[in-house]
Amino acid sequence: MIFQKINIEWLHHACFRVNGKNSIIYTDPYKIKNNYNDADLIIITHDHYDHLESESIKKLINDKTVLVAPKDCQILLNEFKNDKVFVSPNEIKIVKDITIKTVPSYNVNKFNEKGIAFHPKEKGNVGYIFIIDNVRIYIAGDTDNIPEMESFKTDIALLPVSGIYVMTPKEAAESALKINPKIAVPMHYGSGIGTEKEAQEFKKLLLNKLEVEVLTSIDK
Ligand SMILES: [Zn+2]
Repeated sequence: MIFQKINIEWLHHACFRVNGKNSIIYTDPYKIKNNYNDADLIIITHDHYDHLESESIKKLINDKTVLVAPKDCQILLNEFKNDKVFVSPNEIKIVKDITIKTVPSYNVNKFNEKGIAFHPKEKGNVGYIFIIDNVRIYIAGDTDNIPEMESFKTDIALLPVSGIYVMTPKEAAESALKINPKIAVPMHYGSGIGTEKEAQEFKKLLLNKLEVEVLTSIDK
């Protein structure tokens, strides 16, 4: 998908490749099949296996890649000698000329059998709103429809739709209307949790309200 000269491609689940004029940014590496090794930045929303997978990171990095992740990902990323930037919610960092704002990412109504949120707010998981060639892109992480979204400003919103651990298609559609991006892209399906059915349902719910692009994986 091309938006104002930025090419946004989907690999799997929450892993996207964003190609700007001078930089390539990947999000949440998972299940990558091919070797790319062209990442300038890899931004990671939280430490769950389906967002931070060592084997996938190896297929994206080179010596110059900078890894950006929440503080509690430190140990998992120790094996990589690359430069790293560790973040908490509500910070602004400039990494390799890319402005990156971190935002909260957490559950409000998805709990395990012990009544504990799958993604508790206190854990400090993040979403990111980053600016590349004047285009703002929001990658939500594993979140529910949270009140903070009211203040988010972005051109593109990459939103989870699978339900269970994250927003359902209906909740994701409500969050998309709240954020009001130029384009919303469903994610977090097709790799074990959720299928394209949820992505299409999300699109249908926003018909005539918001532009939605359902992407096809480039990593085959
Ligand atoms: Zn998660």
